[in-house]
Amino acid sequence: MVPISSRMKTKVPYTVPKLKDFSPAALDEAVRTLLAAVVREAGAVTSESEWKVFRDRWMARTNGFLSQVNTLWLKAAPKDAKRDVGQRVNEVKKRVDETIAAALERMQGMTSTSRLNAEHLDVTLPGIKRPLGAEHPVIKTMNEMVGVFRNLGYSVEEGPEIETDYYNFEALNFPPNHPARDTQDTLFIAHQESKPLRERLLLRTHTSPVQIRTMEKMKPPVRVVCPGKVHRNDALDATHSPIFHQIEGLAVDTNITFCDLKGTLDHAMKAMFGSSVRTRFYPSFFPFTEPSADVQISCIFCGGRGYRDGGPCRNCKASGWIELLGCGMVDPNVYGFVDYDAKRVSGFAFGMGVERIAILKYGVDDIQLFFNGDVRFLQQFG
Ligand SMILES: [Zn+2]
Repeated sequence: MVPISSRMKTKVPYTVPKLKDFSPAALDEAVRTLLAAVVREAGAVTSESEWKVFRDRWMARTNGFLSQVNTLWLKAAPKDAKRDVGQRVNEVKKRVDETIAAALERMQGMTSTSRLNAEHLDVTLPGIKRPLGAEHPVIKTMNEMVGVFRNLGYSVEEGPEIETDYYNFEALNFPPNHPARDTQDTLFIAHQESKPLRERLLLRTHTSPVQIRTMEKMKPPVRVVCPGKVHRNDALDATHSPIFHQIEGLAVDTNITFCDLKGTLDHAMKAMFGSSVRTRFYPSFFPFTEPSADVQISCIFCGGRGYRDGGPCRNCKASGWIELLGCGMVDPNVYGFVDYDAKRVSGFAFGMGVERIAILKYGVDDIQLFFNGDVRFLQQFG
């Protein structure tokens, strides 16, 4: 059973009464009712936003309950009661202030407790295992090859994938309209017809422009390898891709001969494919080297015999040799573009396709597997 009077108290919102009787007993009663109301309201607050409404109802400068108390009780009091009323009003303000502050503390306590619960961390639980990726076979092969040349004292240089016609062709001794340009189906950036030919942008067709950029900023002796991505307008098939990777090398110094080139590449191929691998060089043509050569290595599948498992070797087409890279002595014309003294220095350059090496090394039968992003394929190289 709840007495009617107290039920009324909870239902009817508190209002500050006008006082007519300023006797101590009447004042006591008014103060008691007010404090009971503020305590009751404070107890009902359940969130910080409710607390703000509650605080403003009591503390607001204009028409908050405390400002009403000032007007309705203190200002309205007759002169002889002013002192007594003033003391009680001060007391009321202090108690209301404390009650409101305590309500906020309770609220924040609740919030921080619930936050602590939500952020509770059990350090004994097993962690989230993030699968570790593997190096892509193309990058892995590239790094291995770069490592071979690093051990020979070469440094690594990189250059932009979008090149000018000048760096990709002209400075490499492909003059404008040179037929050699037709051998590389080049992807040009569109709408550049208004520019002079040598300034037109294209996707580099080889990493050789990096050799020019290197010689422009570095005086001999130069020993660099340039790994990177290149583009040609090739249709996709098992052995061709419009995107592939190359590693080129360049060594320029005094008295560098073709013997140095042969020795260097023979060593690099043995380091990459095993010490029993042999190399052979035969004449070829590149605009930026003279003389030029293609390099074959003895077939790593049949040991150079040309047959295996009782039949002809598929990988070398029974020849015992696999063509792997191009090379040559830097054409003296190229030195003219980079301000080197062609009478004083000589050097060699070589270049190879990284995918081609990776295909041989890992026995991959389709170049597209490198670019499809099939995790089942890539995981085998982890
Ligand atoms: Zn073979």
